[in-house]
Amino acid sequence: MNINVHKFGGTSLKDAPFIINVANIIQQQNKPMIVIVSAMGKMTNALEEIVKSVFYKKDNPTEHLQKIKNYHSEIIYQLFHLHHPYKAKEVETQIHPYWQNIEQYINQPVSSPYGQIYDQIVSIGEIVSSIIVSEYLNTIGIYNTWADIRKILITDNHWRAASVNIPLSQNNFSEYLLPLINDQSILLTQGFIASTAHHYSTTLGREGSDYTAALLAYFVDAKELTIWKDVDGVLNADPRYFKNTQKIDELTYYDAIEMTYYGATVIHPNTIKPIQNKNIPLKVKSFLNPSTQGTIIHHPKNYQKITTYSYLPHQILISLQSNDYSFFAETHLHKTFQIINDFSVKINLMQNTALNFSICTTNDEIIIHPFIRELQKHFKVLFNENVAILTIRHYTPTLLQAIVHDKEILLEQRTRHHVQLVLKEKK
Ligand code: ADP
Ligand code: ASP
Ligand code: MG
Repeated sequence: MNINVHKFGGTSLKDAPFIINVANIIQQQNKPMIVIVSAMGKMTNALEEIVKSVFYKKDNPTEHLQKIKNYHSEIIYQLFHLHHPYKAKEVETQIHPYWQNIEQYINQPVSSPYGQIYDQIVSIGEIVSSIIVSEYLNTIGIYNTWADIRKILITDNHWRAASVNIPLSQNNFSEYLLPLINDQSILLTQGFIASTAHHYSTTLGREGSDYTAALLAYFVDAKELTIWKDVDGVLNADPRYFKNTQKIDELTYYDAIEMTYYGATVIHPNTIKPIQNKNIPLKVKSFLNPSTQGTIIHHPKNYQKITTYSYLPHQILISLQSNDYSFFAETHLHKTFQIINDFSVKINLMQNTALNFSICTTNDEIIIHPFIRELQKHFKVLFNENVAILTIRHYTPTLLQAIVHDKEILLEQRTRHHVQLVLKEKK
């Protein structure tokens, strides 16, 4: 069977007209297909506010929840009231237990770690969204089967960034979901969420539904995976930071990983590996212009290298020196990496000299403050906040010169194809 996998993110499902647009796109695709949806609009952020409110006992979590309920009710009303008023009620009834579930967290004393509560509450955004979309599609004759992906994708209990047990999840998929798929099927499920072996919900990290889509494409040996976005495809630079961006027609898996790892947030960096491993083409297409070609990520025959720019904002550059002027060599590096590992710090760039070791990482206060305090017990620590990493692939010296001339550069690394600059961020 040639199964296609399609993923629709929060932006494509932000209101009723957008959901109707997604329904039109789904109707035009070849079956069988698996459709993966995220929470609607900015609902993951909104659910995060409830978690903070419950855990830190600030604001009013019930008010946050009410806004979320109203947002979904408005969408349900707009989708169903005109032609299927009874259906609106039915869908409200279907999602009601999930709101009650959140209410229990609001009303009970906090008795679990932050991340665990986060995953139980935030995952409901995906469940509710998928129920509404699935019901809407069925109502207008786009028949689909809804599945709870938490019964299939099993992870560890590393809350908020759980690791999927691939062999176990693959087995579950083959046993429970694959038999549901035939030539005419549409299987609709959620991205981003999973569960532990003990049936607690987990999440795979923010923006993680692209990764779910890639995993499911991997499990079914999909013909292709299409990720629908609000841009024409992968652009040669992040449009939020660069003007005059250009759409890239095709990219290698390799370049796609390098771009996304260093800030091209159009696709989650974890997405590429599973599809590369099975040579599945990944299309990034615009849900606003579905007939345009988009970008294809695969093994191109004649690859035209394109200069791409990725930007990682909110970084901190930390420089370490030994306290006694000894070389910053194996023993110091060993200690440094132990601390990095203990604090789960993700290094985006590193460099060393005889006496100095520098690392650049995301400036996440909750991790970075205790991390620096620990480093200070062993080394002299200097740091620069408000920096960013600019990564340019397939650069030319002239082009580089034009880019750097007006920037304050704190650190630079180059290979023949790839240059990375740690820059002072513009205020
Ligand atoms: P989703 O709705 O699936 O969550 P996102 O909003 O996370 O989608 O991703 C799409 C956004 O990614 C675009 O609107 C754009 O601002 C941003 N983006 C960052 N880098 C790039 C890039 N290189 N090409 C295209 N879009 C990019
Ligand atoms: N809803 C989740 C988020 O906003 C996952 C996703 O959209 O990919 O991070
Ligand atoms: Mg997103």
